[in-house]
Amino acid sequence: MKSWPQVAVSAFEFHEALPLLVLTNSKTKSKQALQKKDAFRMYVCGITPYDATHLGHAATYLTFDLIQRYLQASGSTVHYVQNITDIDDPLLERALRDGIDWEELATSQIDLFRSDMVALRVIAPKHYIGAVEAIPLVVKAIEELSEKGTTYLIDKDLYFMNMAVSDFGALSHLDKAAMEEIFSQRGGDPSLVGKRDSLDCLVWMAKRPNEPGWDSSLGVGRPGWHIECTAIAQEYLAPDKNDLELIDIQGGGSDLIFPHHEMCRTQAKVLTGKELASTYVHAGMLGLDGEKMSKSKGNLVFVSHLVAQGVDPMAIRYALMSSRYREDRMWTDEILAKAIMDISNLQAALAQDNVADTQPVISEVVHALSDDLDTPRALRAIQEWSTASRNGAAGGNVMQMRNCLDSLLGLLF
Ligand code: ZN
Repeated sequence: MKSWPQVAVSAFEFHEALPLLVLTNSKTKSKQALQKKDAFRMYVCGITPYDATHLGHAATYLTFDLIQRYLQASGSTVHYVQNITDIDDPLLERALRDGIDWEELATSQIDLFRSDMVALRVIAPKHYIGAVEAIPLVVKAIEELSEKGTTYLIDKDLYFMNMAVSDFGALSHLDKAAMEEIFSQRGGDPSLVGKRDSLDCLVWMAKRPNEPGWDSSLGVGRPGWHIECTAIAQEYLAPDKNDLELIDIQGGGSDLIFPHHEMCRTQAKVLTGKELASTYVHAGMLGLDGEKMSKSKGNLVFVSHLVAQGVDPMAIRYALMSSRYREDRMWTDEILAKAIMDISNLQAALAQDNVADTQPVISEVVHALSDDLDTPRALRAIQEWSTASRNGAAGGNVMQMRNCLDSLLGLLF
């Protein structure tokens, strides 16, 4: 799959080594420093292309963009892979509802997603892989799961036994009743007759009438969702033999912790004997005016709609950074209005020949980001600098400030 055009990122110029990046690991529920490495492997779950790109998506991909920017500024390379679930039930259901071809719907939404990511200056993944193009990889992974005796048929559909791994649940920390409830809310089928365990998941779905299917050694059908990401991560982010984990960072929205990431983790463990990721990072959910933002409520705010209304994408980016990535948070017109005002003040400061001392504010931004991406603290420091500069403080270097804003925060004016 074609990724979006790469965003140019300036090399970060800083007088000292950056502190290690500390992130909250959902598995340990604690903050953890990423030890310095030449190269990190990061996999972030992509969208199902039927409702792109609402602000919840934008907040998630922005989080991993900030991680990548910080690691790059620290001198590391980031091998970044993202998938796109371009065949799945929700896509087919939406296409049927709207009376359009599912491939046409997927293509149009992927194009929209790409242009939104470019507008928001989100760094493109090195490999952007669609589920359809990954079918040979998925089939190979399922064959390996079957060789290990961890799959079984219900009619012509193939299921994977999540209980093949003794510590199933170690990521989500949920009890079985809670897992079953969430599983059924998020596309699972815990009460299906014939299952050996209610939490076993579909890995290959036999072709249904009037639905697409692909021929394979598993019969004509299509892949389940979880195995798609496991197979893509394994192929495109192959670890060194000695690594204990398959990759360094697995990421997505917090609604992916269970069942998606828990089940990807289990499949990866059966396939490779390794833990899927050393750090599991999850972005909180975004609400609108006090309500959860969701497809079913019909209250999604789309990046493309805001941009069409004339909102500067940098203001959207800034507004999303004004709260912490891990928190469930609200989007309001006031937050966007404040971001627009803050940016206007910042641009006025950046246009001056004389600005306040830049080293202390850049150091504060670096330390704030290193502490689990404390973007509100970073933006506060920038606004204090902006105010001081507009009030006549001098001694700084405006180009250094522009470099910091661009390379670490993705803000280019
Ligand atoms: Zn995924």
